[in-house]
Amino acid sequence: METTKFIWQDGKLIPWEEAKIHVLTHSLHYGSAVFEGIRFYETAEGPAVFRLSDHLDRLYFSANVMGIQIPYYKEEFRKAVLDTVKATELKSGYIRPIVFLGYGKMGLGVVGAPVNVAIAAWPWGAYLGDQAVKVKTSTTTRLHPKSAAMAAKITGYYFNSILASEEAKRAGADEALLLDWRKRIAEGPGENFFLVKKGKLYTPKLGGILPGITRASVIQLAKDCGISVKEKNLRLGCAYGADEAFFTGSAAEVTPISEIDGHKLKSAPGPITEKLKELYLRVVAGKEDKYKNWLDFC
Ligand code: PMP
Repeated sequence: METTKFIWQDGKLIPWEEAKIHVLTHSLHYGSAVFEGIRFYETAEGPAVFRLSDHLDRLYFSANVMGIQIPYYKEEFRKAVLDTVKATELKSGYIRPIVFLGYGKMGLGVVGAPVNVAIAAWPWGAYLGDQAVKVKTSTTTRLHPKSAAMAAKITGYYFNSILASEEAKRAGADEALLLDWRKRIAEGPGENFFLVKKGKLYTPKLGGILPGITRASVIQLAKDCGISVKEKNLRLGCAYGADEAFFTGSAAEVTPISEIDGHKLKSAPGPITEKLKELYLRVVAGKEDKYKNWLDFC
């Protein structure tokens, strides 16, 4: 991976290679950390972080779900993210804030375990590449919402995503698509899913998926463009017969899907995917005044 000079750890920027933890870190053993994946983009007014407040709201929500008290006010955290980005001297890149239970207490109990915070930022290009991706549905079911708070971004959940994406890659696909316990489409291992049918946009309802910030942005952009958006439970058959499909995510941005389980979609990227992707990339680059309040300038 590409590195930068500093990582923000527990209150200060320290050299990248010195940002280390003990092997008996609680979250390493039990998956109890909460985290975010955020991007910052080059704009005419300097680097800008996309929807930072929304990412921090989700991070604090996830911490609350885990019973972790983040030892900083949200405003302090926001400043720490911006300081970390500035210290990279990059125009654009990816930001990974993580709040974890540290070293000093073993056993599952959260109370009394030290809380550590780190924020790293580095260059990271297109997460799923620049081309439309081939998708394979996974034999691993997405976590049941009664087993996990699906609106939280907790490291432990990602074993489920890793099983799915590794299976997809072994089968020659680029990315997985996970179904929920009802066999309805849930999401990608690190992305939300959309399909287009007869000019209308469909995406799985909230409840069994991570409420993606890119998902919410794309829904709003689509509605503002006059495209009908329906959040509903989707069967796999709808996806096989879709005109277009795409993934959304902070890392993946808007990634067109070319085929699902060998079923080729009509076009990839199709016209609606293309339109939303272009608009999204203009928005994050500060080229659309209407959505400038989604940007935090460094
Ligand atoms: N689903 C999962 C499981 C994810 O890990 C992500 C990435 N955070 C997403 C969806 C997309 O969320 P966002 O648009 O907020 O990055």
